[in-house]
Amino acid sequence: MADERATDFAIIGGGIVGCCLAYDLTQQGHSVALFDRRELSREASRASAGIISAPSPRSGDTLPLAERSFKRYPELIRDIEARAGFSTGWHATGMTALSTQATGEGRAAFLDFYREHGIQAEVLDQQSLREQEPAIHEQFVAGLHLPQVASVRLDQVSRAMAIAAAQAGARIHEHEAVNEIEVRNGRAGAVRTVNGRYPAGTVIVAAGAWSRMFGEMLDIEIPTVPVRGQMMAVTDVRPPINSVLSYDAVYILPRADGSVAAGATEEPDSGFDSTVTPEGLAWLTGKAAAIAPAFASGKLAATWAGLRPGTLDGAPLIGPAPHLDNVWIVTGHFRGGALLAPGTSELVIESIASGEVHAALMPFALGR
Ligand SMILES: Cc1cc2nc3c(=O)[nH]c(=O)nc-3n(C[C@H](O)[C@H](O)[C@H](O)COP(=O)(O)OP(=O)(O)OC[C@H]3O[C@@H](n4cnc5c(N)ncnc54)[C@H](O)[C@@H]3O)c2cc1C
Repeated sequence: MADERATDFAIIGGGIVGCCLAYDLTQQGHSVALFDRRELSREASRASAGIISAPSPRSGDTLPLAERSFKRYPELIRDIEARAGFSTGWHATGMTALSTQATGEGRAAFLDFYREHGIQAEVLDQQSLREQEPAIHEQFVAGLHLPQVASVRLDQVSRAMAIAAAQAGARIHEHEAVNEIEVRNGRAGAVRTVNGRYPAGTVIVAAGAWSRMFGEMLDIEIPTVPVRGQMMAVTDVRPPINSVLSYDAVYILPRADGSVAAGATEEPDSGFDSTVTPEGLAWLTGKAAAIAPAFASGKLAATWAGLRPGTLDGAPLIGPAPHLDNVWIVTGHFRGGALLAPGTSELVIESIASGEVHAALMPFALGR
């Protein structure tokens, strides 16, 4: 089979991470070939709730990525929507973390953090909370409201990025699985699919929960773990939900199309099974109704599930492959990939351009 034209970058995986890298690289003048074994963004990035949550004291080592992403998102969405010509479902509702206690011990620390990081935040007392969110359960007496938080349809964001990348010359290969990365003398030369051999200067593995199989191929450890998340959406919720509401690791979110989604289960033993289960939906309905009882009487509109790219220690895996000059692994964003993708992409590209891994990426090195 003849070689295809060489590109600067071959990106394996067309979820939010791969699409964002393709977009950013092409905007900087690089040539890119992007591969997905299915259509773009069918996996975690399609299942995602797409909440672009604010950096927080719980961001840990991902804080620099989260901050970059959070600041960048509004303009990024404007840019890609203008280029692609369709809406990404960006819905700037803000987010309210609900509390059953009028004063919380950790609240002051959170407020200090937000002030220091230039993130708007406001404590809502019982009365203002109820005025803002009349649908919430009576158990809640206070809330921490972050007005800049938004949500998106992440599959639409990925697709808009890929379209904008294609307009800038990227070649997008859907339904074309990469089944080999050719390595010679410590360097990757090309990727292979059933359709051909694609030479590339640098290969980026952004295959989400499936990245592990490239580790076996490259003789390195890429310890990704699929973690299923189930979600559901209802319509006709009255009174309406006005912002993303979170409590007890579950959130409900009003979406741009008028539906209200709830998520998500966290099932680390799911393997690669991304089916929806009756138990999962019953659990979600119960949790969502504990936030806003009206959720349970909404009309069921959709259910879905996806496999988050988890890792053994919970932190992303971002860095050059040990012993291979020109292969980067960019995955493992677990529950935060919608937020973290743009910041990740910027830092990865800066690192590749400078030849030195950015300090903010060091905690995510492979083989740590
Ligand atoms: C239910 C749920 C809710 C979530 N909610 C949020 C949220 O509100 N906010 C947030 O920040 N994050 C959220 N996340 C997490 C976020 O969606 C993920 O971290 C992110 O989508 C991961 O993107 P990815 O590109 O790494 O992986 P994926 O989107 O899974 O993309 C990987 C791609 O690689 C492709 N691929 C695999 N093997 C090959 C191969 N051999 N050749 C070519 N292509 C291949 C796959 O087909 C897939 O398209 C949620 C996730 C889930 C599942």
